[in-house]
Amino acid sequence: MFQTTREILQSADEGDLVRLRGWVYRKREFRDKIFIMLRDSEGVVQLVFSGQLAEDARKLNIESSIIVEGIVKVEPRAPGGKEVHVTRILWSYIGEPFPINVSAAQADSEYLLDVRHLWIRSRKMWAMLRIRHTVFNAIHEYFRMNGFYEVQCPIFVSAAVEGGATLFPVKYFDRTVYLTQSAQFYLEALIFSLEKVYTVAPSFRAEPSRTRRHLTEFWHAEAEMAWSNMYDVMKISEGLICHIVRRVLDERLEELSILGRDVEKLEKVRPPFPRVLYDEAIEILKKKGLNVEWGSDLGADEERILMQEFETPIHLYGFPEQIKAFYHKNDPQDPKRTLSVDVLAPEGYGEIIGGGERIEDPNQLIEKIKRFGLDPKDYDWYIDLRRYGSVPHAGFGLGVDRLVMWICGLDHIRDAVPFPRDIRRVAP
Ligand code: ATP
Ligand code: MG
Repeated sequence: MFQTTREILQSADEGDLVRLRGWVYRKREFRDKIFIMLRDSEGVVQLVFSGQLAEDARKLNIESSIIVEGIVKVEPRAPGGKEVHVTRILWSYIGEPFPINVSAAQADSEYLLDVRHLWIRSRKMWAMLRIRHTVFNAIHEYFRMNGFYEVQCPIFVSAAVEGGATLFPVKYFDRTVYLTQSAQFYLEALIFSLEKVYTVAPSFRAEPSRTRRHLTEFWHAEAEMAWSNMYDVMKISEGLICHIVRRVLDERLEELSILGRDVEKLEKVRPPFPRVLYDEAIEILKKKGLNVEWGSDLGADEERILMQEFETPIHLYGFPEQIKAFYHKNDPQDPKRTLSVDVLAPEGYGEIIGGGERIEDPNQLIEKIKRFGLDPKDYDWYIDLRRYGSVPHAGFGLGVDRLVMWICGLDHIRDAVPFPRDIRRVAP
């Protein structure tokens, strides 16, 4: 039987004989003793080695793996208030000296990306990975609680959803196909069978520029709902975000604190999110001196400035037709704008969700495809969905890595992912 570091700190008593296994996180000598911070998947605990055992422990490197037996002592000076006085080393693998030197490494983030396969052992990566785990779990929980069916969509596709420029071509026997940019079209097909569907899967986009919020491979949580409109998207997406943030606050306070996250800011994330018409956003940005007009697309810089005005996420809605993909339904009251909505995260983070109502009428859809300079033949099966029992429907896509980046308070999306891919990097 082994105890985890967490079990020791939470429930072991003075004098208990325990067995622990893990990796050497820190090591220091004091008089004739060796103090080792032992790390496992649950946390860290201080081990104390003395006598002959100190001689053995001295040989261990940072990141050497060990299994020990020892006696629990209450020690207010130890992190977590307890330590384990080792009585036996049951197993050890000393290995080679660990190559990452924390202070040099902090100075050079490219180096940390080169050694990401080892750096994921660090406390910050550990904390992020555990938060990420909770986020994915909460996404599934929320959709299932709200009557959505989970579905799986293809990764190889033959047409663009988000636009041809960011497609990754793949050699597929004797022709070229693409990696999926979004499961949306398939989810739209599936609502005619299951009404409310969701999927959590990778999307691929050949993003040409390096930014703090774009990866070439990212995790996308997408939902599509029959008999629904833009306001349903607002309700479900805000419910989803609030549920995820609540779960992280309930389960991951220690991890948030390791990341230095200001938890008060996350506590403010409650429904309803402010609903901001695109036109109001343009006015706010103009007042701040930005050179934007009705019809301008908002990039990361504009969104960052806009989101300094708000303490919670917002729904930004009613975007002009020309800055949204062809499938967005135009507002019948005001046809130059679409019934589209993005969720923007506060503290300057910007867009985390994009969604809205889809065109349900086949003729309107064909007309708009042509107006956008596209060929209806390329969207044949997508148009087909409107030919048989079409219904009003709406949906959205959440960028899970961007959400994790905001919840963790990270500067760069690549630190929200264990093995990031961007324009320059596909290894490790
Ligand atoms: P942006 O304008 O920031 O490039 P987008 O409008 O192209 O994003 P959507 O097509 O609306 O993005 O995709 C839905 C969500 O997926 C976005 O709100 C975002 O959270 C996420 N997302 C999109 N592209 C990327 C990417 N390259 N890397 C990480 N997440 C992304
Ligand atoms: Mg978008």
